[in-house]
Amino acid sequence: MPRVIILGSSNAIPTRDSENTHMVIVGKERTLLIDSVSNPILRLEQAGLDFNDLTDLILTHFHPDHVSGVPLLLMDMWLMGRQKPLNIYGLHYTLDRMEGLMGFYNWSEWPNFFPIVFYRLPAREMTPVLACPDFIVHASPVHHMIPNIGLRIEFPASGKLMAYSCDTEPCGEVIRLAAGVDALIHEATGELPGHSSARQAGAIAAKAEVGRLILIHYPTGRFAKGDLVAEAKTAFPGEIVLAKDFMTLEF
Ligand SMILES: [Zn+2]
Repeated sequence: MPRVIILGSSNAIPTRDSENTHMVIVGKERTLLIDSVSNPILRLEQAGLDFNDLTDLILTHFHPDHVSGVPLLLMDMWLMGRQKPLNIYGLHYTLDRMEGLMGFYNWSEWPNFFPIVFYRLPAREMTPVLACPDFIVHASPVHHMIPNIGLRIEFPASGKLMAYSCDTEPCGEVIRLAAGVDALIHEATGELPGHSSARQAGAIAAKAEVGRLILIHYPTGRFAKGDLVAEAKTAFPGEIVLAKDFMTLEF
């Protein structure tokens, strides 16, 4: 049964028990990392996973709290002698910058570096990203300070559906992306440009008629404020949980 493991649940400022928001989806054949921050090898090991089992990486947008782990991840894979390709998916805007960043590390000269396959996604609603027996992923642009994507993921074995808003203010795209899913993982940074509050996340969940709302990318630790679940409940009558690091969801 595919598992989604939350590797981080914090907004851009991590705290002792809450890393920046990112997650991994573990299937039978494929393991998909969604964004990469901190020390990816360590984080995956703490989740009981081997970083060399990663087959796919989706980069949602080019902000440091979502992609700063990529250079270290790729270098460590190379140092461990990886030969199998790694697929990396993202918008042109994101992948252009990631290539530029890796260029500063002179990655084209790393001896015997393994193949990286870039999948450049158009900024169009419900763009097919990847499909395999474990999961089928679509992406839609969402409303953030820079180009960004949210994801809709279908798990064919169970027929279950999940959506991930990523960083966004409330918008029609995210409602359509999340329409009727069993679980919506929605950000709750606060009512700021390019972001949403817990109450706004609840309103999106209600409009999209989702089964369960999981709040993520919120102020954690010493920066935490208020009862976010109670705040979201004012707009959404269904089940609401606060994502925590290493929480596992089964699909
Ligand atoms: Zn963020």
